[in-house]
Amino acid sequence: MIGGAIDNMKTFEQFVNENYKPVQDETCGIEDNQVFRTGDIINYAEKNYEIRDVKVSDIIKFSSLSKENIDDMYLISVHAGGGIDDLIKKYGRKATVKNLNDDEKKRVIDLEIEKCMKTSLDYPVIVVTDKNGKYKGLLDGNHRLVKAEKLGKDTIKAYVLPYDELVKNLENIKMKTFEQFVNTANNKTIKDFSYVIEFFKNFYPDKNISNIPVYVISEDEWSDGKARQTENDRKGGIRIHENQIDKDEEIGWLIHEVGHVLDLRGERKPYLVSKEEFDGYPNEDDEQTPMWYQFHYLINKGLSEDQVIDLEKRDYSDCKGGNVLWNDYKDKFFRRYYQEIKKKI
Ligand SMILES: [Zn+2]
Repeated sequence: MIGGAIDNMKTFEQFVNENYKPVQDETCGIEDNQVFRTGDIINYAEKNYEIRDVKVSDIIKFSSLSKENIDDMYLISVHAGGGIDDLIKKYGRKATVKNLNDDEKKRVIDLEIEKCMKTSLDYPVIVVTDKNGKYKGLLDGNHRLVKAEKLGKDTIKAYVLPYDELVKNLENIKMKTFEQFVNTANNKTIKDFSYVIEFFKNFYPDKNISNIPVYVISEDEWSDGKARQTENDRKGGIRIHENQIDKDEEIGWLIHEVGHVLDLRGERKPYLVSKEEFDGYPNEDDEQTPMWYQFHYLINKGLSEDQVIDLEKRDYSDCKGGNVLWNDYKDKFFRRYYQEIKKKI
């Protein structure tokens, strides 16, 4: 579809190979709702800061893979590297390492240590500090830091960045929060994105979607797949193709993408059309929540079944993805889905 929630999985092979060095397209963050794209942070650090030697013992507690923290790591984060699909199936998406039995836990930790040891300490980790200059967290380098500790190193190469400065400089580091994106969008067809925030207030009066990270990426990045989608601790963000900002918003694509982020944050909606009746994309786990919101929106707007199908059809035919072309299956499925939501309103 038009945007893309950051939610694809890598194979284990890919993950291990890529982790010799930092993964540009992953997201990183130390606070919920405040997630950066790793590549942007690295570029910002390289431009503005010198590499320093930081004592491993001062920052090891910030690694999500350190002895103190590994119990709280989500299986889904391990799963981003693959190799434990069976455990995810057994324990569910929200399980953490402490849910596992001893054998399973050992397997997961061995897997992570193996990844740690394959990283390269030539690449500086990224540490952030609080207002008083005290270490506050680790934005990038969880695996490298554990490797340095295991090898008995005193120090590790690091960029040390004040956290507040990063948040203040979001504009300069490419990412925007959803709110900034809404407030700075000025295009012909979508004059006012704020309806999306209003729409979600109907469902989540107490939940803030305004800090969801939005990455507007170039046509080039989009089409050659450089901006690969990744999942990170169920946080995620929204990727938007820069050419799509001018696109008509009547299909509710932005609502669909916010739905993906809520899904990654654990707000999953159930299947409305059974897997027996329609098996395969878009009737899949990850698409239930986005479609739930999108169709609520379209039906609230007063669109008929045929109108919704026409919009979907046009949306799919505009998409260059190739794997998402319109067909009979999607026609029938979306009609069934429309009817199911209609019953709920
Ligand atoms: Zn989707």
